[in-house]
Amino acid sequence: MEPDSHDRPSGWWFPARTTAYFLIVAAITLGTLAVLGLRQINSINAENSSVRLDRAGRAAAALLVERVDGATITTNANGSPVAITLDADLLQPANSWDELLDAIGGVNQGAANLFRFNAQTDSFDRLSTTFRTPEGDRAGGSQVEPGLITAGHPAFASLSTATPYVGEVPVAGRLRLAYLTPLTAPDGSLSGILAVDVGWVDDLNRINNEAANQAASVTALLLIALAVICVVVMFLSFRPLHRLTEVAHALGTGDNERTVGLTERGDEIGYLAKGLAKVAELQQTLEHRAYNDALTEIPNRAALIRELDLRFASIEFDDVTDTAFALLIIDLDGFKEVNDGLGHQAGDELLAALSHSLQESLYPGEFLARLGGDEFALLSAVGNHTMQSLHPLVERARFHASGVFATNAGNACVTASIGIALVPQHGQTSDEAMRHADLALYEVKRAKPGSALMYETGLSASFDRQMYVVTELRRALAANQLSVAYQPLYDMTGTLRGLEALSRWEHPVEGAIAPSEFIPVAEGAGLIEPLGAWILEDTCRQLAEWAREHERVPIVSVNVSTIQLRHPDFVESVAELLRKYPAARGKLCLELTESVLVSHTSGWHRRVLEQLSGMGVLLAIDDFGTGYSSLSYLNELVVDEVKIDRSFVVAAVGDDSKTQLLDGIVGLGRGLGMVVVLEGIETAEELALARQLDCDLVQGFLMGRPMPASAVADRFDVISPNFAELPVVAA
Ligand code: C2E
Ligand code: CA
Ligand code: CA
Repeated sequence: MEPDSHDRPSGWWFPARTTAYFLIVAAITLGTLAVLGLRQINSINAENSSVRLDRAGRAAAALLVERVDGATITTNANGSPVAITLDADLLQPANSWDELLDAIGGVNQGAANLFRFNAQTDSFDRLSTTFRTPEGDRAGGSQVEPGLITAGHPAFASLSTATPYVGEVPVAGRLRLAYLTPLTAPDGSLSGILAVDVGWVDDLNRINNEAANQAASVTALLLIALAVICVVVMFLSFRPLHRLTEVAHALGTGDNERTVGLTERGDEIGYLAKGLAKVAELQQTLEHRAYNDALTEIPNRAALIRELDLRFASIEFDDVTDTAFALLIIDLDGFKEVNDGLGHQAGDELLAALSHSLQESLYPGEFLARLGGDEFALLSAVGNHTMQSLHPLVERARFHASGVFATNAGNACVTASIGIALVPQHGQTSDEAMRHADLALYEVKRAKPGSALMYETGLSASFDRQMYVVTELRRALAANQLSVAYQPLYDMTGTLRGLEALSRWEHPVEGAIAPSEFIPVAEGAGLIEPLGAWILEDTCRQLAEWAREHERVPIVSVNVSTIQLRHPDFVESVAELLRKYPAARGKLCLELTESVLVSHTSGWHRRVLEQLSGMGVLLAIDDFGTGYSSLSYLNELVVDEVKIDRSFVVAAVGDDSKTQLLDGIVGLGRGLGMVVVLEGIETAEELALARQLDCDLVQGFLMGRPMPASAVADRFDVISPNFAELPVVAA
């Protein structure tokens, strides 16, 4: 899977985000601290101002009382002046007032004013002030300035009721912080105001504003410094993490080519890196297991499919005129015998040794895989191949996949059958190439094991037919649609001596399907064992039935496939039949092909034959002369009868040298004490030859075709008419 670009984190997103969060939190914290600090400063300032103002009020009142005869102060519980009582007539402009105010202003470091209440205008007129004109003269010039505090002035309402006013008052468009003490006459009536202040309000607040500004800039500076530090620290500490996230992502998408690194660090990053390194290692192990065969350590089927897919993806078929590469499927012949005879351990050893030998024989670019069991696949290197250029590869594969392999249990011998498909001629996809190589292999196993065969179009059709036959045969076996025909064997007097049981299959649609077609298919598809078991049982049952109805019952031969014979339970199944049908004892003959002679070296076959023979079962070698066996082997086996193939008879008629050859074979058989049968006698001439050569028995269409059990039973005690015409040969 390719890493999706949408999956990827956008660069340094995470540390950037974290930095931003951190800065927001820092800004909020610093801001809150600054605001709290400012409020603290504000309240301290406010308290300071009110204390100063209160002192200014007290000082002013005290100074006035000291300098004006008869003046008294009324204070509240705190000692702050609430009123000053004096003779109202004293409230006239006078130098003494100017001096007093200057003294008060000097003490308070602020301004001082004296007002007189004017009942006619209901306002306060100023008598004196410490304010100066820009020229430096006393404002008002010590003259009465009327109506300076009147209704609408913030202090007016409070003072009208002879209550002191402490707070801001407007002066020349600005505000001053002032303490205004009412002056009262001895009769208690309101007569004026003594006003003192401590300065301009905005001057007093300036310090607050300055503190606020300072706090704000310090906060901003701190934030900038923090941001820089944060960015540097974050980016430095996230750099390894960023790397690890990329490694983790790569691991997740199956790319474990990257080295993890950072594992030497002692911190959490190192710990994480070690964990990731373990995951990477695990993934590599898993991948190795997924793509390699455990027994032989070479690539497995999945690896082959991957390799094929890669190759198919990279080949431009339009540009390829010749073969891009060849796919060889190699199957061992005789591997099952190794397993059965020497044990599975030996089988495994053989597979491992053989894989090693094959693997070592590879040229650059070639690819070997074990498909399972005793099946391997080999891909040639990619290039422009021709039939000739592939030949050495095929021979090399055959050479290295066959021969004698030493195992702990003894030497094991196998050969290799090879099916070949060319790409792209025999497959434009992996599946197609595999299927066609398999078909070629199937055909070579059937027709000529141990050799190699290239796929050709006809194979598909024959394979389809075989598949059809397999399915139909399986159905026929289950539905009991097979029957047995019996072909008679006569001696030279025309007396019926034996019968051969032959399978017959009448297909509901196709009609009769010949054993020459369905027997090999059954052998290839694992159906020969049920089929063989069935015909053996049916024959024994028939023998038992005949034994009840007839005095003399001939020997009946049943064909047994080598595959059946190999089955470990075969001897026991025959013994079981003989127990079930005692009448078959001494009447049953098994026809085996020459291949049992070929593999006579395996002591195992010989033991099976001896056991069968010991149970009273007769043994015949069928189709003698068509295989590769040597006559001398006959001597070593407990065989009662030899059936010489029809091809010998056909060849011998009218050919002296071939007649002599046949004569030799017959003589040898008889010399070994065997019953010699000539098969496929179709003409009187052939029958005459059989008699001339002194054969024991003859079998063929001339004397009788294979026929149903009821028909053959009619011949039990009848001399065959064909023999009457034969000239009697002198002994
Ligand atoms: P086979 O064992 O050699 O059987 C003899 C075959 O030769 C039979 O063919 C028979 O019909 C045929 N035959 C007999 N006389 C003549 C003759 O005069 N001229 C010619 N041209 N042929 C003659 P069939 O029945 O078609 O069987 C073919 C082969 O199939 C058999 O060859 C045998 O190998 C195999 N087979 C048949 N039934 C069974 C069975 O139940 N089990 C096994 N394992 N093989 C069987
Ligand atoms: Ca036969
Ligand atoms: Ca035969």
